[in-house]
Amino acid sequence: KDDPRNKGFASLNDRFEGYYTNYPYRLASDVMNRPICGVPGAIVDVSNRQTSDEGWAYTQDGSKRTIVNLGSYNYLGFSHNDGPCAQRAADYIDKYGLHMGGTRHEGGNHVTQKHLEECIANYLKVESAIAFPMGFSTNAMNIPALVDKGSLILSDKFNHASLVLGCRLSGATIKVFKHNNPQDCERLLRNALCELSPKTGKAYNKVLIVLEGIYSMEGTIIHLPAFIEIKKKYKSYLFLDEAHSIGALGPTGRGVVEYWGCDPKDVDVMMGTLTKSFAAAGGYMGGSKAVIDHIRAQSHGSCYGAPISPPLVAQVAESMKIMTGEDGTDIGNQKAVRLLKNSRYFRRRLIELGFMVYGHEDSPVVPLMTFWITKVVYISRRMFDYNIGVVAVGYPATSLSTARVRFCLSADHTKEQLDYVLKMMDVVGDETGSKYMKAIKPNP
Ligand code: PMP
Repeated sequence: KDDPRNKGFASLNDRFEGYYTNYPYRLASDVMNRPICGVPGAIVDVSNRQTSDEGWAYTQDGSKRTIVNLGSYNYLGFSHNDGPCAQRAADYIDKYGLHMGGTRHEGGNHVTQKHLEECIANYLKVESAIAFPMGFSTNAMNIPALVDKGSLILSDKFNHASLVLGCRLSGATIKVFKHNNPQDCERLLRNALCELSPKTGKAYNKVLIVLEGIYSMEGTIIHLPAFIEIKKKYKSYLFLDEAHSIGALGPTGRGVVEYWGCDPKDVDVMMGTLTKSFAAAGGYMGGSKAVIDHIRAQSHGSCYGAPISPPLVAQVAESMKIMTGEDGTDIGNQKAVRLLKNSRYFRRRLIELGFMVYGHEDSPVVPLMTFWITKVVYISRRMFDYNIGVVAVGYPATSLSTARVRFCLSADHTKEQLDYVLKMMDVVGDETGSKYMKAIKPNP
């Protein structure tokens, strides 16, 4: 009678980690989970909430509220549906429609895709690029085309779920090194030289180091030059996910490679998403022609999935043109300068207020540590009362005891908006006892 099979199958919606994955996280993400009723820019309309017989319900456009938005990934302020990007997207709908008709191998190899891939390769300063309609699946579907069960993957501890999934699907042996720690990565790599793959019993056929440019929960910027040195020393390969750093770092927004002054050729796969700085949707991979041709021919994502819709291509192509100055204006440069200025200012002021803030001063992702999930919930709700939207992050996106409020800065935030947010954070920080650094005097 104790055999679980006698009780029948579990229901399809049963969840293993039900409480921790659902309950606190749902509470915490309450504010930014409200339906957004407009373009997700520096300020945004969101639906208000009402009680109903069944509990909480969101009203639709009838009752909306305008908030200062520090939740959306709109680093360069390209979200607006006005200006040249929106115009070009509208033109593309007129000219090409929305539908791609099939996969690249089945009639979906549209002229817009070729154009997008040329724009991306030009932006990254690499030989070739390939684009996909989803950033998440760009990682999950393509890493298995690069490594197999005879390979070794060295993965940063805080890599994104899409990278973790791609690594697992590849069947390779995975070793995890300490976050942003080249020494730990090298230690694992050196040990691996005298090991056999537990899956094939032979020496590893290749080693892939998997990193991100900016870590979206930590605000750290990867120490790319040190990892490039290691990859060269041990003849391994580097896969870099620039989801949060492309557009958001470097004088012309070309990401962490430009930020550190590295050579793009030293990164074997430059992956990124089009969902954040370029305010569209999709993912890409850039690199040598040989590697990208291999992905084009071998990956499940390119063989069995349809490509990106034309208006999104237009949005990305136009925003990249602005960032490189090929539109003949200085707007791209101004955006990059404003984003850096906003990020540094906001972070510095939070620290001065006594908050504990993680990450690098140049990162537009600013995590403010509260540690307690209950504090994050309280802060996000109180900030919403003050018409400010912030993202509350807890388990499983972070460990259970390291909940945090995550701010995403945009080039479009004005100093007045940021000062208002800081003023209210000052109040809410005192209310929750979250200014952990206040009592600590800096070393003389
Ligand atoms: N990689 C990283 C590092 C990410 O942070 C994300 C999404 N936040 C993705 C990949 C997936 O991208 P998308 O949301 O465009 O599917």
